[in-house]
Parts: sequence; structure tokens; C-alpha cells
Amino acid sequence: MRNKIVISKPYIQECESEIFGDAVRLCANITMLDPNTHIEKTKECYFEFDENYKKYLCPERSDAFVMGLLSSAMELDMDIEFEAPISERLYYQLTTYYIPMVAKYNSSYPMNNIRLFGSYDDRQIKNEKAVATGCSGGVDTFYTIAKHLSKDIPESNKITHIVYSSSGTSDFNKERVKNEYKKNITSILNIAKDCNLEAICCFNNLFEFYKIPYRAFNMFYSTTFGSVAYALQKLIHIYYVSSGDPISNFSLNLNKTNGHDSSVFDVFTTQCMNSENLTFYSAGMEYSRIEKEKYIADFIPAQKNLKVCAEIAFMDNNNVKYNNCSICSKCLRTMVQFYSFNKLNNFKDVFDVEEFYKHKAKYVGKMIGLNKKSYVKDMKKIAKANNVKISFGSYIYAYLWYRPIKFLRHIFRNSILARKLYYKLNLDYKLDGYRGPAYEAYQENFKNKK
Ligand SMILES: [Zn+2]
Repeated sequence: MRNKIVISKPYIQECESEIFGDAVRLCANITMLDPNTHIEKTKECYFEFDENYKKYLCPERSDAFVMGLLSSAMELDMDIEFEAPISERLYYQLTTYYIPMVAKYNSSYPMNNIRLFGSYDDRQIKNEKAVATGCSGGVDTFYTIAKHLSKDIPESNKITHIVYSSSGTSDFNKERVKNEYKKNITSILNIAKDCNLEAICCFNNLFEFYKIPYRAFNMFYSTTFGSVAYALQKLIHIYYVSSGDPISNFSLNLNKTNGHDSSVFDVFTTQCMNSENLTFYSAGMEYSRIEKEKYIADFIPAQKNLKVCAEIAFMDNNNVKYNNCSICSKCLRTMVQFYSFNKLNNFKDVFDVEEFYKHKAKYVGKMIGLNKKSYVKDMKKIAKANNVKISFGSYIYAYLWYRPIKFLRHIFRNSILARKLYYKLNLDYKLDGYRGPAYEAYQENFKNKK
């Protein structure tokens, strides 16, 4: 028989929080085999907010917890059992379409065809009709915000709230996740202020119920992000999931997408996430990343607050002057894309643009050498249309240096010996200029294997 994740009836708890001061939590006790220690235990899972959100929490339904733990359950091949009902539409869509279809096309990930055990309820829950989107401060979210504040959008679809949650972490060190989360709150509040929106901050501990190094958490994350909206379903009735991919990349099988994550099928996922109370949209699927960058290039809140870097928090030699480290692959990709249509200077407050121009040939080469083909192709096309020249030197860096490095990293990615040597010789510092989160994931993995 398959193992189970058992979710108790949700409950509300007031507490004193390091992050919010007077806080409130939507909690449930989760009983399962811990995915990392393999010991069965019962542990509290929670979504924590400022106390003002108490009246919007929804303990009547298990929706938030089922959604939050779904990718973990599918990865670990565990059924989910819940004491309080889930929304009927959600139950129907998850069990008929989402779970069997995602499992069928991603069995090698592995994602498994699990079952949900519990009752469901089709009654509507009274709701304040807020329109929200998750906000990481990245390109996709700024596009969603700019678009849904524009005059082309009907009033009832205009964004009223941005949601900042800890659901996006790829870290497993609780203290560090908390510190990093706390550190970013100010910038999220600044974005909300600059866009004239309300910010909802949610710290949750979903990551503690996932297997390190978080493949399911980071590859199949839309349901996890959506869980926060379900925790607040007495407030939110429309939620935009900012899609990282255009609809042209659609595929249910991630093995066929050259390293893209589940955002390639967000249009399907968001349909399956809808309920009697909540409607989800895959916002931004109509545009490629570079088209979104063009859309936000003159949006002042983005120029002041854009943050694409996921590495800076882990760097011991980070460049704290800017929101973005300006040397990792994601930073470079974004900088080169803005450069390709002459808008990089608009973002000089958030990127080290001066340093970029000093090493332009190398940085452009690194972007071409290390990034996904679709990003490189779009960038080259737009550079050509804008008469931005890519130097011969950049191509030398791209094809004679960074491509071979990418190839070797791929070949040796699962070899513990190669990784040991790689870190021993400090090749990450030598090649990239920093030591990122992969190092600690490797250490953790190594420890577990021992
Ligand atoms: Zn970076």
C-alpha cells in the first residue's frame, strides 16, 4: 500500500512572530514519513500573516494544504488524506486532470499518480473580491503588475494586492530562509507603494515537507504558490500566476522542454486550480521573456525595484550595492536582454551596469554560451532589429569557453568525485566569480548519502 500524507482539520492560531510581531497562522498538523530522514512524524504546517489577515483565513477547507503539499506528495508517491473538505471543483480537476496527466508525462521526474482521500464541498465562501498576484520583484511579476494596472484591463481584473510569500525558496536552512524573507519585505513594501497596491506578506514552512534538493518544489511550483491564495480565500477571488514561459513553449512533458520548469504548462495548471471561490490565470503566457522586458522597460517601479537574482543571498562575496549580483547567469541574461534593445541604462539602480560595460564581450558571450537556446535566439533577433552589435569576441567566449564548460558540467553533474574536485579547486569562484547555493545542496546531499 502507498504511504500517505495526512492533513488534520485546519485551525487558526494567534502568535508572536519574529517577522510580523503580532501574527496569525492558518495551521494543520501533517503526519507523514519525513522525505529526508524517512522517520514518520506529525509536524505543524502553517501559513503565517500579519494579524490583520485573521478574518480572511479559511480553516473550513483543506485547499491550501492540499495544494501546498501536492508536488511533494506526487514526487514522494504518497496519497493525500484530509480531514476537512476541499472545494469540489478543485477536487474534480486535480483528480481527473492535473494529477494523472502531470504524472503520466513526467513519470521519470518522478511525479506519481497519487490519490486524494477526503470529502469535498461546493458551497461558496464569502469573499472580498481582491485581485492579487505573487510578487518576487522579477520580470514576470512586474509585467503582470504593469499589464493589470493598465487602461486596457477591465476594472474587475485590475490588481489590488501583491502577495509576497516564502514559497519560492530553494534553501533548506530555516533560519536563513526566514532572514532572507525578512530582508526582502522592505523591497516588496516599496514595490507596493510605488504601484499603489496593498502588500500581503505570508511566511510558510511548506519547504520543510519537501525532499532536498527540492526538485518538485522548484520544478512544479504553481500549485505551491497558489496555496497562499487558498489560505486567504475569504479575501482573494482572482489570482494571477505570472508565467515564466510563453504559450509557444507549452508541453506537459518537462523532458522535452530543454530545462524549462512547469510554467510551460501553467495554462493547464491554473485551469485545474480554479474553484467555486477562486479563479487563477496564467498571466504573461502571451509574451516571451524579452517581450515582457520591453513592456516593463519604461515602468518606473520596475526600474527602481527589479530583482531577478536568486543567488545573491547565498554569496559570501556579494555586491550589496545593487538588488542583483550582476554576475550570475540569470542577472547576465536579463542585462544582456535589456542591452539588446538599448534599455539597460534604465536599470542602472538595480544592476551594476558600469561593470557590465567594462566586460561587455565576456558577459554577452557568457549569456549566449550558458542560456537556453530560446532566450539566446530571441535576444539575437532583437539586437539585430535594434542595430545592437554582438562582437566577435562574445562569440569566441560563448562557443570556445562557456559552451564547453556547460557541457562538462552536464556530464559530471551526478559525479560526487567530480563535484568534490570542482569545489576543492574553487572552480566555481574561478569560472563564475562566486559560490552559489548549489554548493550547500551538494554538501547536504553528500551528508545524506553517507
Ligand atoms: Zn545574480
